[in-house]
This record gives sequence, C-alpha cells and structure tokens, in this order.
Amino acid sequence: MKTYDIIFIHAPIIADLEKNTSVKIRRGAYIFIPMGIFAIADYLEREGFGVKIINYPLEKYIDPQWSLSEYLKSIEFKICAIDLHWIHNSFGAIHIIRKVKEVYPNAKIVFGGYSASYYHKELLQYYKNIDCVIKGDGEIPLLEYTKAITRQSSNLEDIPNISYKNNRDNIRINPIRYVAKDLDQLNFTNVELLKNHRIYLEESRKIMGISFNLAVGRGCPFNCPLCGGGQRAQQKISCRKKVILRSPEKVVQDITKILDNYNTNSVFFGHGTYPANLSYWKRIFKLIRNEKLDVSGDIEIWRLPLPKEMWREYFKTFNRRHSSISISPRTTSARVQQKIAKICDPTFQFPISQLQDLIKNATLFRMPLRIWLSLGYPFQTYGDILRDFKFTMNCLLKNGTSTIKPITIMSEPYYIFPGSPAFEAPKKFDIDLTHPSLLQIVDSFKNSSISFFYNVINYNSKYFSGHTIQTINKLLFLFAAPMFLTGS
Ligand code: SF4
Repeated sequence: MKTYDIIFIHAPIIADLEKNTSVKIRRGAYIFIPMGIFAIADYLEREGFGVKIINYPLEKYIDPQWSLSEYLKSIEFKICAIDLHWIHNSFGAIHIIRKVKEVYPNAKIVFGGYSASYYHKELLQYYKNIDCVIKGDGEIPLLEYTKAITRQSSNLEDIPNISYKNNRDNIRINPIRYVAKDLDQLNFTNVELLKNHRIYLEESRKIMGISFNLAVGRGCPFNCPLCGGGQRAQQKISCRKKVILRSPEKVVQDITKILDNYNTNSVFFGHGTYPANLSYWKRIFKLIRNEKLDVSGDIEIWRLPLPKEMWREYFKTFNRRHSSISISPRTTSARVQQKIAKICDPTFQFPISQLQDLIKNATLFRMPLRIWLSLGYPFQTYGDILRDFKFTMNCLLKNGTSTIKPITIMSEPYYIFPGSPAFEAPKKFDIDLTHPSLLQIVDSFKNSSISFFYNVINYNSKYFSGHTIQTINKLLFLFAAPMFLTGS
C-alpha cells in the first residue's frame, strides 16, 4: 500500500458527483486546481514528505465510476489538505471531509485557499472534523504544520497563518506572519505529483476551454467590485499589501518544461496586463521568442489601455492556434463604470473607444479577443442591458462571424466573492446578498447541477433578481453564440 504524509484533494464544484456517474463532466465541473497547490505540494516533497494530489472532478471525468472512498482505501496518509480557494467548491470540499473520515478517522483535515482563509473561524466552528485552516500564503505554514503532525509535536502555537483546534478542541487563531516576498524559490510545475497529471495537462483545453494555468505572481493592484482577489481583499485575507511577480526567466522555464514534456502547446497566464506591468510582459515575450517556443498564449487585460505595440509583441510571440486575449469590462455603460470607479476603484474604466481600439487591433493582428460582460452588474438598469445587447449586435454584424475578425462576446452571471468590495459593503452597490454566511453558501451549492453557466448566484440587484440575472446572461450568450462558434 502506498503511504503518504499528506494528500491534497481538489473538490468538485457541484454537489455530489457520485450521484452523477452517468454524466460526462464538462466545464461546469471545473477541473482546474488552484495554481499554488503544485508549488506547495512540491515544497513539502522537497522537504522530504510523501505527497500526492488528487483531482476529484478530473478522476470522475476520466472514469465516471471512480470512487474516492475506494481510492483512499488503497493508500495511507496522515494529513488531508482540501483546497477551498473558489467559493464554488464549498459544498464539495465539505462533502469530501466525510469521505476521508469514513476511511481514515484519525487523519487530520486541513483547509486552505482564499475562501477558506476568509471563513477560517466559521470552518473550524461549524465543521467538527476540520482540524486546521491555513490562511493566506500556504507553503511555510503547511510545511510547519506537517512537521508538527508527523513528528507528533503538539506545538502548533508558533506556526504562522494557521487557525486550528487544540487538544481540547478549542479554536486557536495564530496571526498571519508569513507573506511570501519572492516566488522564485517555488516550483509551480511539479505536476507529476498529481494523479493523472498527463490527462490534466493534455485535456484541460478540451474540457475547460483554456490550458495549463501558469502562475506568474501573487496579488492584484486593483479592486474590481465582485472579486475576492483584489488588493483590499488580499490585504484582509492574506495580509498581502503588494503584488509580487516571478522572474520572467522562471516563467519561461516553466513554459519550456510544459512544452517539452506534454502534448500541450498553450498556457494561460495567471496574471493580467495593465499599464504598469507592460515592460514585464515584454521581457517574458522576448524570452519566449529567444527560446523559439512554439506556443499559444491566453492572457487577460486587467486594465486599459493596451497599446498597439503590445498587440504586435503578442502577435510576434505566440502562434494563433489557441491564443486569445480576454478583457472583462462586465458592462459597456460608462455611467455604471463611473459609479464603480467612485466607490471602489478609480481605475475601473473601460471606455467604448478603447474597447473599439482593442477590436481594431485584434482584427488587425488576427488575434482572438474575448470580451466578458455580466448583465445584472450592480447599478445596471434595463437601459444599460439594452446598450450591452446593442454593443454585442454591432460586434456580431461587423466583426464576429469570421475567423479573420475573431471577436467574441461572452456573458456570464457573476458570483460575488467573499472579501470583495461588494461582499463587504453590499448597500454601497445597491445589492442584497442572498446568502452571506458560510452555512448558507455551502447550502446554496448543495443542490447545484452540472452546467456550462454558473448556476448559483448570490445577489439581487436594485433592478434585477438573481433569477433574472441568470436568464438575461443566457440570452446574451446565445445571442452572441455565432461569434463564439466562429471566432474562438
Ligand atoms: S477581477 Fe479585478 S481585482 Fe480581481 S484579479 Fe482581476 S483585475 Fe484584479
């Protein structure tokens, strides 16, 4: 029997995959693992611990009859770490605890990730089988915790960033003292630690629409209203005050490793472009060209403008096969953007003229451009929704239905993430959160089902109910489908 000190399990996004054995899982099951897991798992392995990563939804994709319980019976381990980074995984993550405990009642259960960090007290309070929650950056705290548990030292008081239950089951909260300042010592591509890693790497694009997620940095300088990964949210969740980026050389080394070892030829960059970091991106692009890597790149624009020169750089660097550039203005309404800019982020501005420039450059360089809208965004009225439809129709007519003009408009309802500006102060955004507490959130995902669209939404805006928000986004998505089918 194979023995590990610690296993990592990535939970399914939908409630209980075991009830859906006949369903071939697709995008809605969200097989992606948070990028940091590979680095944390690698860090522990380098320190001499036996480590394995299990991707539950991937296993069910490969074999719908796969059983976590049966698999767990075939291995031994002392600690089970479950990522609760995206809140969508909350029910699945909680569900997994029971499965683990049925097989190994004495295993320690550790949670980590943004959402777990945000709800660290509640997780320990409401779920008796969770022993520890790692808050913020995880590599050092989890290493120290693993050392303490495997060496049977009860001394957890000095471990940074953990909240845990002591021997008397009392909750103890250690402060966040570890915030990584440099990521170049970490290895984000030790994918071999993942069970069925080859399939994960080679089929991600087919399942999820994008390929391997490559870590580029931690943090974000912006504060988009519904995002739990922005600057203020990070400061609250991880005590991270500023962005750190990996050295361009390390990023390119990782791309080389992925291309050399796996039958995949594209990467998704886990950090976006914005005016302050364009020279950093240029350096990465230059190194990719120097190495003559034949690779497609998926990259996001976090803030405008993106000068024509960057399009040219992008065009020179990546092959077109699977490349794309995405931007998420969420709404084309200048009025809505200005309101949001005033409340939480003065840089939240995506003027139509600059979006038109992007469309022009995407067409010129024949680079697929995806523009993400979210109807029902805070402050949007019926008039704003009609304007978004009109914008979409114009794109459809002028640019959309040809691979020569590869513009796609995507539309999705957005879940307001814990820690985001709107989650922290919903009234400022004229919205009601329908399930703000952790127990309500977990319950809301309990009955979700596999779907292309996110089918759980946690707010009503002043003008639209959550149900209407889902419906109008589906309508816009279908309306724009000809672009999606020809442009991507
Ligand atoms: S959505 Fe906005 S705040 Fe969140 S990571 Fe992207 S740019 Fe940053």
